[in-house]
Amino acid sequence: MQTVIEKLLEGEETQNLHKIEVAANILKEGGLVAFPTETVYGLGADALNPAAADRIYRAKGRPSDNPLIVHIYCMDDLQKIAAYIPAKAKRLADHFWPGPLTMIFKKRDNVPAETTGGLDTVAVRMPNHPLALALIEAAGGFIAAPSANTSGKPSPTLAEHVKEDMDGRIPMILDGGAVGIGIESTIVDFSEETPMVLRPGYITPDMMKEVIGEIRIDPGLAGEDLSVRPKAPGMKYKHYAPKAELILVNGAQEKVQQTINNLTKEAVESGRTVGVIGTDESCGCYHYGIVKSIGTRSDEDTIARHLYGILREFDEQDVDIIYSESFSTPRIGQAIMNRLLKAAGHQVIEV
Ligand code: AMP
Ligand code: MG
Repeated sequence: MQTVIEKLLEGEETQNLHKIEVAANILKEGGLVAFPTETVYGLGADALNPAAADRIYRAKGRPSDNPLIVHIYCMDDLQKIAAYIPAKAKRLADHFWPGPLTMIFKKRDNVPAETTGGLDTVAVRMPNHPLALALIEAAGGFIAAPSANTSGKPSPTLAEHVKEDMDGRIPMILDGGAVGIGIESTIVDFSEETPMVLRPGYITPDMMKEVIGEIRIDPGLAGEDLSVRPKAPGMKYKHYAPKAELILVNGAQEKVQQTINNLTKEAVESGRTVGVIGTDESCGCYHYGIVKSIGTRSDEDTIARHLYGILREFDEQDVDIIYSESFSTPRIGQAIMNRLLKAAGHQVIEV
């Protein structure tokens, strides 16, 4: 299969509309289209068509028990797939949709088991991206879209990343340039009594608390006690991983830099290709290996935005081992560390 990449350009509305129309037709016929959202690139299929949803699993090599998020473009459509919408969920939707927040509800019968990984619940999100919203509307309103990467690889934040993973496997990629946020949506489960965060993201528990009061965090998320499984099936897989071994170094900044310099010196001397993930502030302090800045500590959004891209860059340079600073920044730090810890298989050196 040949993969067509359609670039959507600012100011060329007529051409863009035409390209979205072509993509929507592929989706309506049960095919797959990758498209940008504000979080990461998604791999879309008609969420109400079991055969189409099934194609997503095959293209990604995704385990069939790992459910998909259904993307909608208007509030009225939520009740068409969710059997019951608690008042607090409605309030979060009013506040944060369109935006990087996914909510889980008891599903209606029209949502096939293929989309929900066999669960009786459905995950729903309204993305904050004009192109994504236009595509969802033109394609009938319900688009299942996990991240458009091969299962286990870092999520794509550029159309080029999608091409690396999906070339020849899907008919079309809509290229809308770099995404804004760079990590996947926050997931909140509303299928039980108390709302519970199943995956941290750009929308933090504190932001949601201000709107709905108490909110729990899935105890399985910490990843320390392996007998406590995370509730979102996708969170149990080693995920987001680069090819190289990734090790995080955590502690006071000066100690971290010293440790990374010692470890990278050793690695280089033993003939290994080594990478370092630092920041705009710290990169000048590292003396060995390939040093990359992930962003600036004065704007944590830049760190989220470059996280997956930097892991892919190191893959391309075939490094054997990557040492990274850790980023428990105040707001989305939890989401950033959640992704980094998974990519590192929880290997952390405390200094
Ligand atoms: P992705 O679309 O690649 O960002 O992955 C979707 C994430 O949402 C995975 O971690 C899934 O396990 C999770 N998810 C989707 N639907 C449900 C659901 N009904 N219940 C719990 N987790 C879900
Ligand atoms: Mg994913």
